[in-house]
Amino acid sequence: MSRKILVTSALPYANGAIHLGHLVEYIQTDIWVRFQKMRGHECWYVCADDTHGTPVMLRAEKEGITPEALIERVHGEHLRDFSGFLVGFDNYYRTHSPETQALCNLFHARLTAAGLMETRAIEQFYDPVKTMFLPDRFIKGACPRCGAADQYGDNCEVCGAAYAPTELKNPYSAVSGAKPELRASEHFFFKLSDPRCEAFLRRFTRAAGVLQPEAANKMQEWLGTEGEHRLSDWDISRDAPYFGFEIPDAPGKFFYVWLDAPIGYMGSFKNLCDRQGIDFDAFWKPDSEAELYHFIGKDILYFHALFWPAELAHAGFRTPTKIFAHGFLTVDGAKMSKSRGTFITAESYLNAGLNPEWLRYYFAGKLSGTMEDIDLNLDDFSARVNADLVGKYVNIASRAAGFVARRFDGRLGSPDTALPVFTAIREAAPRIAEHYEARAFSRAMRDIMALADEANQYIATAKPWELAKEEGEDAALSRVCANGINLFRLLTVLLKPVLPALAARAEHFLNVAPLVWTDVETLLPEGHAIRAYEHLMQRIDPKQIAALIAANRENLEKTATPQRKAAPAEAAAPIGIDDFLKVDLRIARIVEAAQVEGSEKLVRLVLDIGEEKPRQVFAGIKSAYDPATLKGRLTVVVANLAPRKMKFGLSEGMVLAASAPEGEPGGIYLLAPDSGATPGMRVQ
Ligand SMILES: [Zn+2]
Repeated sequence: MSRKILVTSALPYANGAIHLGHLVEYIQTDIWVRFQKMRGHECWYVCADDTHGTPVMLRAEKEGITPEALIERVHGEHLRDFSGFLVGFDNYYRTHSPETQALCNLFHARLTAAGLMETRAIEQFYDPVKTMFLPDRFIKGACPRCGAADQYGDNCEVCGAAYAPTELKNPYSAVSGAKPELRASEHFFFKLSDPRCEAFLRRFTRAAGVLQPEAANKMQEWLGTEGEHRLSDWDISRDAPYFGFEIPDAPGKFFYVWLDAPIGYMGSFKNLCDRQGIDFDAFWKPDSEAELYHFIGKDILYFHALFWPAELAHAGFRTPTKIFAHGFLTVDGAKMSKSRGTFITAESYLNAGLNPEWLRYYFAGKLSGTMEDIDLNLDDFSARVNADLVGKYVNIASRAAGFVARRFDGRLGSPDTALPVFTAIREAAPRIAEHYEARAFSRAMRDIMALADEANQYIATAKPWELAKEEGEDAALSRVCANGINLFRLLTVLLKPVLPALAARAEHFLNVAPLVWTDVETLLPEGHAIRAYEHLMQRIDPKQIAALIAANRENLEKTATPQRKAAPAEAAAPIGIDDFLKVDLRIARIVEAAQVEGSEKLVRLVLDIGEEKPRQVFAGIKSAYDPATLKGRLTVVVANLAPRKMKFGLSEGMVLAASAPEGEPGGIYLLAPDSGATPGMRVQ
């Protein structure tokens, strides 16, 4: 029975490049969608750029262009990268669109009519220089618990404390450097705490199969037990200046970007429906028989499993059939890192001449349908692609094709229908289909490669190259080659969702119509003409991987050069010389420098400042320096700063560095004395 299926991937933000971490989601979704289409289902895959909010507004301003021009450019870049990795959206749109705006207004009107919207005055930090209210991530200050400087408005990266931005000590605006003021403003709230929402969410999140078990548990934590009323109302508005949709009849008030992002899934689909004559309502009406799936990263589960279904349910729409959350990508066992060159952009991968299907296959071999992180091990990547795709799969075609062309005029002989490996493939196909359906792609790949092993074993035993040398073995050779070509065709059917471009070249070589899933049940008949074999896939040369890493490192050095003058931070109040002399500044030699396990910012330094014992200091310079390059350098340290106990150990001082305001290009620059200075010298 043919199903009607609508699939989405999370909307990438229109403020940065697509990298391999993003691709885990888009490749995963694309494989699933291609599988559904091969099964003959009506399946639509839509996505869009997430275009609104303060970061896009500020980035455009900094580049001296309109937000519309910025999102247009980024849209082109994103689409180029996704196409490069063969992600086959049926529509890739943008949230800044008339369709999404009309739907936002409709949600707002219906939720208001349902009594689930209310306005309330709240106090928020306001930047008096930039004349705007500040989102949490644009407010920085000292941690209220441990005192660490330059922490974000919501949590401390040094001690892990979570807090409200109003609790920060000495807060400042990361946009202008100004001291923010608390100001009251009227905001719109979606009443998630309403008993109707809570009751609905308890049902929704417990319904079998809607969420993965680990996600359902997370939801129970967030919902708490009945009567606890843990859900808070959700602030869905922002004040001007803001790049977004203005709320109807509320001048100067805009829908928060997170309100319109999921509505953007519908907007993109609406745009597709209008162009292709698809019935939009059939997919979105409350009793719709169509299926709706959202693929998302585990970090945005809250938005997709609580806010979004609650909005849909109370605005007169259907709710998602299932929400598929996945983990993050690590490279060589660690978080992707710009300094190690493992923060690999999609563009750099393709520019290095690497085949996108190598990565698609490698990811497929790792994806299990759970929320666990997956690791891209670069050595394993080369080894696995070369062994599986080239050694086991493509090889089957190349071993048989030459004889068919030279000896049999390109025509296949009669295949041996009773060959055990044909039976094995036919019998495994339904199980492999179940793995695809359950997004257990790693199991599907393992099963397919086991079948490829059997196919190779058959050819190794039948030895066509020896039959070719013997007199009177033409019929046997023809049959073995027909078996080999048919085995290659069957494996191509099974791998096609993962390797669509390779499958298209294989279909050309095999001289067959685009393969669909049921083709796994048939064989090419005697007399079928195939085309000349052309190389289907190269092996990965480890040098290509090394070049890719080097390219991403160079990339970093280029982008680390400041492109424009940073906005000056607000000057501090004047002090006398006595105050200044209270600070004991000393020349220090970095004796040791090391990564701090579990910290995104810190490097652990051991400093010689001319004392008997070297000191340990933690410095937030990891984003700018590879610890290996720091050893032996001289710098300046505040020697009489009271020692501070941090999560990772005692910090006995502070090294001095220059940095641009948060969000500006510019990086971090450690101070260094002219040559001749020695450890322990006083700086004054
Ligand atoms: Zn802290």
